[in-house]
Amino acid sequence: MHVLITGGAGFIGSHLADALLNRGDSVSVLDNLSTGSAENIRSFLGHPRFSFTQAALDDGSALDGLASRADAIVHLAAAVGVHLILERPTQTIETNVLGTHALLAAARRHGCQTLIASTSEVYGKSEALPFSENDDLILGPPDRTRWVYAATKLLDEFLALAAHQEFGLPLTIMRLFNVVGPRQTGRFGMVLPRFVRQALQGRPLTVYGDGMQTRCFCHVGDVVQAIAGLLGRTTASGQIYNIGSNHEVTIRELAELTVDRADSRSPIHYLPYDQAYAAGFEELRRRVPEISKIADEIGWTPTHLLPEILDDMIDFERDRLT
Ligand code: UDP
Repeated sequence: MHVLITGGAGFIGSHLADALLNRGDSVSVLDNLSTGSAENIRSFLGHPRFSFTQAALDDGSALDGLASRADAIVHLAAAVGVHLILERPTQTIETNVLGTHALLAAARRHGCQTLIASTSEVYGKSEALPFSENDDLILGPPDRTRWVYAATKLLDEFLALAAHQEFGLPLTIMRLFNVVGPRQTGRFGMVLPRFVRQALQGRPLTVYGDGMQTRCFCHVGDVVQAIAGLLGRTTASGQIYNIGSNHEVTIRELAELTVDRADSRSPIHYLPYDQAYAAGFEELRRRVPEISKIADEIGWTPTHLLPEILDDMIDFERDRLT
């Protein structure tokens, strides 16, 4: 199978490229290297079944040429990270909505199976845990910039499902929950790579708020297996799937475990949200996915536990720091 990965030089995309090449697929990557990095795909350059195109999604001819040769598209290109989104909401909206619009048009022209990456953020402030795919979604008001990301991804879901319903595009939505692992960067705000780096450098770990908020962290290797499993699945067409771990941990526990696994003496500091982000920032207290739907579809469940995830990330960062 020939798979086009948009955002394939990013954290998740580069792991997916690796897994697909290993199972014998051909992979084309389209990435503008805005947040992705050439370093992530360096080891595949020169591989006979791999190609890389540096271009934006609104470069119609690059996208169209790549889609014409692909059997399937995994659309991962997006504006990422809470900090980036708070700083550049206009760019976020344009990248996420116009990019997906262009992508779906190309997929329709060439009849490619399309997997669209969405996010757990679309559940917003819902407290109906664990979150199921057909739950109501509760977003905050538009003058709170944090909701820009969720709103754009939700619009992507509507656009994608409309393309499926109206034009028969074989299409699946993947709502990803806190994906972590080697190659992830803390530059855009993600907690685990930041904690790992802080612990390894002996700097304080900065926990936002009281640290009693929870998340479920899923190893990128597991996520990539779920995506690979959905490729070619006709029964997944028109469906939405949560992809993530359902092992819930407080951010405070996460900080303590990171210090422990990294054998670090870093202290843990607590920073109020309005200092970490912006005044009036709305934080989500708990986020847990219901994952039985994807388990029923492709028999997928996450296999990596948190200590193992941390060890993997610590080893990777140690190598990078030396
Ligand atoms: N967080 C933190 N310290 C950091 C970065 C994030 O305590 O340096 C917290 C953040 O407030 C949130 C959790 O860790 O409660 C996960 O943050 P991340 O940005 O990784 O993902 P998301 O907020 O999208 O779940």
